[in-house]
Amino acid sequence: MTQKRVGLYPGTFDPITKGHIDIIHRATRLVDRMVIGVAINRDKAPLFGLDDRMEMVRTEVGLMEDLHGCTIDVLPFESLLVHFAEEVDAGIIIRGLRAVSDFEYEFQMVGMNDRLNPEIETVFLMASDRYQFIASKLVKEIARLGGPVTEFVSARVAERLYERFEGSTQSSISAGAD
Ligand code: ADP
Repeated sequence: MTQKRVGLYPGTFDPITKGHIDIIHRATRLVDRMVIGVAINRDKAPLFGLDDRMEMVRTEVGLMEDLHGCTIDVLPFESLLVHFAEEVDAGIIIRGLRAVSDFEYEFQMVGMNDRLNPEIETVFLMASDRYQFIASKLVKEIARLGGPVTEFVSARVAERLYERFEGSTQSSISAGAD
């Protein structure tokens, strides 16, 4: 029996964008099982809590078609990436690569992870040119300012973004009214 290929796609997913979805879809062609690791990432002070980010990823993945027979699990993690990869038996770490701006950080990370566990290979995928420029950070900024974001995220995620910013605007208004 051939060994199943397990891939780990880690990220913050704050929130999941069409760029992430494109990478997930491409990665299903490479692995039999994919773990999407949602980083707790307290340092980045995510807009959405871990449960919300995981739920959004699960919903979007649940609606994806043609996963090439790949099974996908969405799990949280806070440990060192290579330790988490070992824990879930992943031989491949999947990362998406956008413009040159991603390269330096990713280059360093691959080097360090390779020292920590040379058995784990990092694979970089590029999203389709329609989605390559999408970054969660900019999507949040546009939504915060009331701009349209459905070109970058699903309608469901867009709804969550507007809800979140509506809530914060209202609470800051009521806080200011005291
Ligand atoms: P992280 O905090 O690890 O950067 P992100 O959720 O921002 O988490 O991104 C997770 C992974 O998805 C990273 O490898 C990132 O480069 C990749 N990614 C995010 N957006 C895109 C996109 N539009 N096209 C290609 N890759 C992307």
